[in-house]
Amino acid sequence: METKYIFVTGGVVSSLGKGIISSSLACLLKARGFRVTIQKFDPYINIDPGTLNPYEHGECYVTEDGYESDLDLGHYERFTDVRTSRANNATTGRIYQAVIDKERRGDYLGKTVQIVPHITDEIKRRVKYLGTTGDYDFIITEIGGVVGDIESLPFLEAVRQLRWELDTNSVSIHLTYVPYIAAAKELKTKPTQHSVKALQELGIQPDILVLRTEKEVNVDMRRKIALFCNVAPDAVIQSKDVNSIYKVPLTMHEQHLDEIVLRKTGVPVEGEPQMDRWLQFIDRMDTATETVTIGLVGKYVELQDAYKSINEALFHAATNAHRKLNLIYIHSEKVTPENVAEKLSGLDGVIIAPGFGQRGIEGKFVALKWCREADVPTFGICLGMQCMVIEFARNVLGLSDANSSEMDPHSPHKVIDLMEEQKNISNLGGTMRLGAFDCDLRPGSLAAKAYGAEHIRERHRHRFEFNNEYHDAFEQAGMQCVGENPGTKLVEVVEMPSKRWYLGTQYHPEYSSTVLSPSPVFASFIKAAVAYHDEKTMEQSADNQ
Ligand code: GLN
Repeated sequence: METKYIFVTGGVVSSLGKGIISSSLACLLKARGFRVTIQKFDPYINIDPGTLNPYEHGECYVTEDGYESDLDLGHYERFTDVRTSRANNATTGRIYQAVIDKERRGDYLGKTVQIVPHITDEIKRRVKYLGTTGDYDFIITEIGGVVGDIESLPFLEAVRQLRWELDTNSVSIHLTYVPYIAAAKELKTKPTQHSVKALQELGIQPDILVLRTEKEVNVDMRRKIALFCNVAPDAVIQSKDVNSIYKVPLTMHEQHLDEIVLRKTGVPVEGEPQMDRWLQFIDRMDTATETVTIGLVGKYVELQDAYKSINEALFHAATNAHRKLNLIYIHSEKVTPENVAEKLSGLDGVIIAPGFGQRGIEGKFVALKWCREADVPTFGICLGMQCMVIEFARNVLGLSDANSSEMDPHSPHKVIDLMEEQKNISNLGGTMRLGAFDCDLRPGSLAAKAYGAEHIRERHRHRFEFNNEYHDAFEQAGMQCVGENPGTKLVEVVEMPSKRWYLGTQYHPEYSSTVLSPSPVFASFIKAAVAYHDEKTMEQSADNQ
């Protein structure tokens, strides 16, 4: 079958969840046996989101091939179980950079280089690139931003040209917002009409409209929208708020989104999507009655998108353990020796978050000391693992001025130090240790048991590492270096076997957790947290008798 291209645009406001709609459609097409991938074009000028502060666009996601990407690629993987790569995300900056590099090389043979056709051709080349691999039946392309923005114009022009070239091998889906005006007790369709008009002015006629709404958009309203927007009435679909993003594929299927896409691209509609395992997951989520309470100690707690993949990996693990996840964000800057017990007792498990820089770091050490002494299941991720190492050095090995050279380049005990290959790097973009690396796990360790394997591959994003000069001192004092890169001998996992569950990973296991393949190490952590919760409950009821 010829590759089909689905374009997803958004109108009226941002944050409508284009990524979730794209992922849900991909999930349904995959469950129908098609080979699907999703890519995202971001209209900002940064070359990639790697240098962006999480306050800007949330977490920076990392692909296996070491690309620092938009967090929507995380949704794509979680919903489809299909790995993405650097070919699945491009920004305006990257596109201009490619065109300017070609111009400098003289590739344009003296021609004037312009937005149309040179920038648009570069966009089109990238849109079609994954199609040329022969690996996919459907390529979903999400255009970031909102129709009407200056920044997204070249992308929409490229989509217009591609729609013309691809003809029936393409579909355009436009996502809009239908606001509810409480004072008038009415839903309003006008913003949708205007947004579609803006898209039409750019030469793009949407085939399908997805209406984001908090309240039911009834059939008459949907007919009215269809009439005004030149869209078939059955192709006006509503996406009403649901209590979990993982239910969106089901609400889209109820309204036949997958079938409409197949029909519009001339693909025979046969049978139903195989969603059994997905439905089992939803069922576990809906029927869970007991709770597991996890605290996440980090500095970006005001913005939950900053830890998106951790939230989702915890949710996958808790749901599979048939528990509701009660995730409590604890601001690391506000944790002090005086209030730590009050803030952390009552939790079933604690995550010490990844991050960069000094801000909030002392609170992480205070939290870790308390967790280690109270023997609460504790999971340190990347900077969180590095903090575990520093806290152990300070309070167990007695190296009171131990630190990471990131925080104190003059510390006499740099138990976390800059990696050798990082020492001469001055550019910050795309230069960390990035992507998936092999890791050997010590037989019999907690980590090896969690994974049920002794050789794993997980994704990294850091510049600093465990300083192997201290390896033996740590091992002798009870913190084991149980995960190691087979080639470089970099320490990737530490754990304390004397504790219930006290483990840190230099890598980010959250990036690879999906609904259908949840992360084994998150599963093991949640299992330990549930066991600890049950233990505490039993003790309490014994005390009450
Ligand atoms: N700042 C630390 C480093 O660069 C940890 C990075 C992270 O947590 N992703 O090594």
